[in-house]
Amino acid sequence: MKTEFSLAQLADPDIAEADKILRACVHCGFCTATCPTYVLLGDELDSPRGRIYLIKEMLEKDRPPTREVVKHIDRCLSCLACMTTCPSGVNYMHLVDQARVRIERDYRRPLTERLLRAALALVLPRPALFRASMMLARLGRPLVALLPEAEQATASPTLLRRIRAMLMLSPGRLPAPGPAGGSVFPAIGEKRGRVALLQGCAQQVLAPRINQAAVNLLTRHGVEVVLVRDEQCCGALTHHLGRDGDARARARANVTAWLAEAERGGLDAILVTTSGCGTVIKDYGFMLREDPGFAAGAAQVSALAKDITEYLSGVDLQPPQHHGDIVVAYHAACSLQHGQKITQAPKELLSKNGFVVKDVPESHLCCGSAGTYNILQPDIANKLRDRKVANIAMVKPDMIAAGNIGCMVQIAGGTSVPVVHTIELLDWATGGPRPGLN
Ligand code: SF4
Ligand code: SF4
Repeated sequence: MKTEFSLAQLADPDIAEADKILRACVHCGFCTATCPTYVLLGDELDSPRGRIYLIKEMLEKDRPPTREVVKHIDRCLSCLACMTTCPSGVNYMHLVDQARVRIERDYRRPLTERLLRAALALVLPRPALFRASMMLARLGRPLVALLPEAEQATASPTLLRRIRAMLMLSPGRLPAPGPAGGSVFPAIGEKRGRVALLQGCAQQVLAPRINQAAVNLLTRHGVEVVLVRDEQCCGALTHHLGRDGDARARARANVTAWLAEAERGGLDAILVTTSGCGTVIKDYGFMLREDPGFAAGAAQVSALAKDITEYLSGVDLQPPQHHGDIVVAYHAACSLQHGQKITQAPKELLSKNGFVVKDVPESHLCCGSAGTYNILQPDIANKLRDRKVANIAMVKPDMIAAGNIGCMVQIAGGTSVPVVHTIELLDWATGGPRPGLN
């Protein structure tokens, strides 16, 4: 694609990066076929190619985004299916990230939307606040019946529909908090490795059992696990809201905390059980590339970051205990399959450990979770969830496995089949407890 940035514009490293990305696009449109919003809405401006044109126009003309541009960028899930499909290697992720930052900086949203986004950016990365808000949401759940349902994918979602979506996503009860930062779980038997395990923010409130299963399995296989004391939210949530300053500050804090831990006790890897977070941590090296104090450290952290299944593929797991022929529908989280290109490891681990693994039809399509998307765009998110659940039902599973808490909550909202994390099944197969929903 031909671009027309001025030399002055190209002196900005972000614009230079955008220029490189835009020039790689050959307008072929292959990406439209796998884009969930294009599949649902059929509007070229809700396709990757359409959005690329809108972003090009906005950046080249260097003018504030219009309401129309914001609408179509907001509808993008950042699922990155387009990157998997694109034959030209267009890095849509870095382009749309830049567009979101520009929108956040230059576009004045309606007051209710600004307040909602500010509240999400404040609450979600802070587990204590998130826990308190979930308790409040429990009290507010009876109000769901009074609020309008998300219905039209083409309509613009109202605040009331977004509040309804938030209440619907809140759990019936909250589990007790998991172990605090600073905890160290020694290896059982001969020590074979030492890792940090990302504590996560929403996940540690909604499902501390996931990291508990990871700790159980790792220590049982000779790996010491540390929950690093000064670790923060990885920044994914605010990054996707276009709040780049907040996301970078969190990235810097984490780089400092993890490298200090690596210095202190050694770290073979920084393990992540929430693939949405993993994708962003693996991108810290890019996010902080222009920061002289952090560029090298961020690259080091990105190289250490691994999805838990990626790490376990290199560990000799104990022979599985037999639990019968349990059929598991494997839901490939977008952040894992498109963001990190991890497609086989989770399925191979599950198969090797005695589960009958079924691929889900249309597995490339997002479930609609996508960070805060199911709150901000409930209409489209619900349609994607229902489509995903219908596809899952076709393989008649006993359980659904996924590697991302956002997907787990989203899918569980549309089915009665238990939704568990891949690591819970692997823990169970190698001597841990049978996973349930709570
Ligand atoms: S598939 Fe790639 S090159 Fe083709 S239009 Fe989409 S982003 Fe551009
Ligand atoms: S990230 Fe997903 S929703 Fe956004 S343009 Fe690409 S395929 Fe479409």
